[in-house]
Amino acid sequence: MASQPKTALITGANKGIGFEVARQLGKAGFTILLGARNLALGEQAAATLRAEQIDVRALELDITRPETVAAAAATIPSLDVLVNNAGIADPADGPPTTTQIGALERTLRTNFIGAVAVTQAMLPMLRKSAAARIVNVSSGLGSLTLNGDLAWQHVGVKFLAYSASKAALNMFTVQLAYELRDTGIKVNSADPGYTKTDLNHNRGTQTVEQGAAEAIRLALLPDDGPTGTFSANEGPNPW
Ligand code: NAP
Repeated sequence: MASQPKTALITGANKGIGFEVARQLGKAGFTILLGARNLALGEQAAATLRAEQIDVRALELDITRPETVAAAAATIPSLDVLVNNAGIADPADGPPTTTQIGALERTLRTNFIGAVAVTQAMLPMLRKSAAARIVNVSSGLGSLTLNGDLAWQHVGVKFLAYSASKAALNMFTVQLAYELRDTGIKVNSADPGYTKTDLNHNRGTQTVEQGAAEAIRLALLPDDGPTGTFSANEGPNPW
């Protein structure tokens, strides 16, 4: 008897890196739940993937709105992969002396608290999977070590809200991996690298295929793969 197809939920998957992760996991045989805060944009993206023979359903999911998180969770019977990809870069963000407090609040609410809320809501379904994977899409900008390394190529990029949100997301990865260490669920952070998307006004130097690669690798980890790690295409990242 053929085994049931596995299901993957990707947040913020209507465009950018999340869309590419959805496309490639769909090509790998997953049933895709395509999370989008704007359902019309989600449906459009899902139609594009469906034309590529991918089994996909658009799901209204604004990760900052608990009611949409709960409503989405209620429609999902089981889940094998969760990619916490949705994220923002706030225009009022900046270096520590000038970043606006509102930017800190908005960015932490989406990039950190939103990912925690979605994960908590999806955990009952992930626990039903034989070998679930949670991938938190982080950033090298969230590395405390790299932020203090004067030789790092991006050392001058100081957006406190964005970087702090990704450092907090990395803490979630480490603590959740520890808490779930005796389950089959693996939790890891992926750093996409500087990728050409709307987030950076398409200034990134990588393609979305390159930006999606590490998140996809972590979503497909074998049972002897790691948990509680932070990595990019080039290999492990310092925390
Ligand atoms: P993007 O093209 O701007 O895509 C971001 C996605 O997140 C969009 O689908 C957006 O939806 C969604 N989103 C934002 N707030 C949301 C919310 N409250 N609820 C649900 N969805 C929400 O940017 P991207 O570059 O692909 O970013 C994807 C992830 O990669 C982010 O976590 C980002 O921080 C991370 N990252 C990107 C880079 C890079 O160089 N691009 C580098 C490191 C890390 P809308 O279309 O409705 O706005």
